[in-house]
Amino acid sequence: MTFRATILTLFPEMFPGPLGLSLAGDALSKGLWALEARNIREHGLGKHRAVDDTPAGGGAGMVLRADVLAAAIDAAAPADDPRPRLLMSPRGKPLTQARVRELAAGPGAVIVCGRFEGVDERVIEGRNLEEVSIGDYVLSGGEIAALALLDACVRLIPGVMGAADSGSEESFENGLLEYPHYTRPREWEGQSIPDILLSGDHGKIAKWRRTEAERLTDARRPDLRRKD
Ligand code: SAH
Repeated sequence: MTFRATILTLFPEMFPGPLGLSLAGDALSKGLWALEARNIREHGLGKHRAVDDTPAGGGAGMVLRADVLAAAIDAAAPADDPRPRLLMSPRGKPLTQARVRELAAGPGAVIVCGRFEGVDERVIEGRNLEEVSIGDYVLSGGEIAALALLDACVRLIPGVMGAADSGSEESFENGLLEYPHYTRPREWEGQSIPDILLSGDHGKIAKWRRTEAERLTDARRPDLRRKD
């Protein structure tokens, strides 16, 4: 089963963008995952292919129309398409590594990128869209959020990352942030690498890393610590 991403956007030129390079790009060329970016405007109305309109109740900005967006979703993903339908949205559930793992293990995703003030509320329920946020700040559109979500998923697809196990010890995987890394030179601007990492004692090194990960997590993100 190949992970297939379908993006609904007003700016399909933004894809694959950075995901066409490096590990994700190599994997895309090898067919380890697939990406299709579809222009919502193909379903726009009238001569000007309008996709948005003024907000009911007044106020600033424009809103993506429910009928146009639904037509774009229906054309991209038939009702029996098993892929989850995501709407990138600052109001959504914040994306976590656990959700990324689930998505990466599944058939892919249909991802709607909002623009302007957002989308007509009715299409969210009408097409069963799961709102996903990438953080508590506002972007000008869902495309960069979709790229971030996909990047996080694609690197977990088997065969994409070089070292097979380099996912399991990373930040967020054990309710911990990752321990600090060092490499050559041994001395740099008067700072040396902690002796223990050069000791060759793998047991001690593992223990040191665990302690450092706990220390960093307690200091920076106590909310992540597993209560077990
Ligand atoms: N008026 C909206 C913001 C619209 S921003 C509000 O106050 O909630 C325009 C689009 O950018 C959104 O529809 C969404 O698709 C995307 N977007 C903005 N910030 C985002 C975030 N933090 N996470 C995911 N998508 C985001």
